[in-house]
Amino acid sequence: MNRHGIRAGWVILIVLLTTACSSGPTTERYRMSRLLMGTFVDITVHAPTRDKARRAANAAVAEIERVEDLTSFHRQSGLARVNKSAGSVQPIPVDRELLELISTSIRMAEKTGGAFDPTVGPLSRLWNFSSDEPYLPKKEEVAALLPLVGPQKIEIDIEEGTVRLVKTGMAVDLGAIAKGYALDRSRAVLEEMGIDSALINAGGDILAMGEKEKGVPWKIGVQDPRQRGGILAIVELSDRVIVTSGDYERFFMKDDTRYHHILDPGTGYPSRGVQSASISAKDGVTADALSTAVFVLGPKKGIELIDSLKDSECLIVDAQGKVHMSERGASVFRLER
Ligand code: AMP
Ligand code: MG
Repeated sequence: MNRHGIRAGWVILIVLLTTACSSGPTTERYRMSRLLMGTFVDITVHAPTRDKARRAANAAVAEIERVEDLTSFHRQSGLARVNKSAGSVQPIPVDRELLELISTSIRMAEKTGGAFDPTVGPLSRLWNFSSDEPYLPKKEEVAALLPLVGPQKIEIDIEEGTVRLVKTGMAVDLGAIAKGYALDRSRAVLEEMGIDSALINAGGDILAMGEKEKGVPWKIGVQDPRQRGGILAIVELSDRVIVTSGDYERFFMKDDTRYHHILDPGTGYPSRGVQSASISAKDGVTADALSTAVFVLGPKKGIELIDSLKDSECLIVDAQGKVHMSERGASVFRLER
């Protein structure tokens, strides 16, 4: 099986058009990169002193590590503990923060008609896209797992602080929302430290805090899904998040068919019809969940969903390479081709 394109590879080439200048005469810039949450995270912080910018960037890294410890699907984490308990008769007590993130995920599943679904976990395990050796399952193997999928099979009691996954073999996968959450948490940490200008790029999921310099927004290049390092559109961002879900992030080819990591919860197979879906939204959780949902919904239903919401815009590249945008999408995404 021929496997290409891990996130840590060319997704990072989403190309930040950030040139090496600071945001004013008294502003210093600090930039660092780390491998976190299975991808390269690139952090740029502006602050009055370089030392303050460095401390803030380190605090953002620590916060992303903390979110990873809470939400990781494969490593030991708060979430892994929940998944281990699947099928138990008794609900298990869960950390409040994780409980709220699971609860938000269930809400997003409802909002997106199940296109985004955190209970795809058993299917994610089967396809194993996050490993170096993903697996092409037999039809029966996929079909056998479908009864374990569905957010209504998570029982959650916010007051008691407990969760129960009702069926043995169920698993919650927060992979389509956790990076967005990590971006939101990083923004909170940076704000607490008095930072008002920063850019965090987590493998193409990007938070722009404030402006790059006074009167100059951050400029982001949206990856062309079929041209490594190529830019499809330019976005000028300030105090917003942009997240892209793409079939080029984790995939393998077999008999001229591309199998990738964004699964249609209804069929258990990689969702067809879209190469990439980019969402601009006010916060990371919304942008991340919606990018996955719109990818699965496809251009027509995806745009209907985005147009029904306030304050989110999308750009979709369909299977033929045609670009579609939400009603006000052109005010956000400036096409380069
Ligand atoms: P993203 O790159 O944000 O679209 O997230 C993709 C990741 O989320 C995958 O690697 C899976 O772990 C998980 N996932 C795949 N399909 C779905 C889906 N339909 N709903 C929710 N999570 C999904
Ligand atoms: Mg997502």
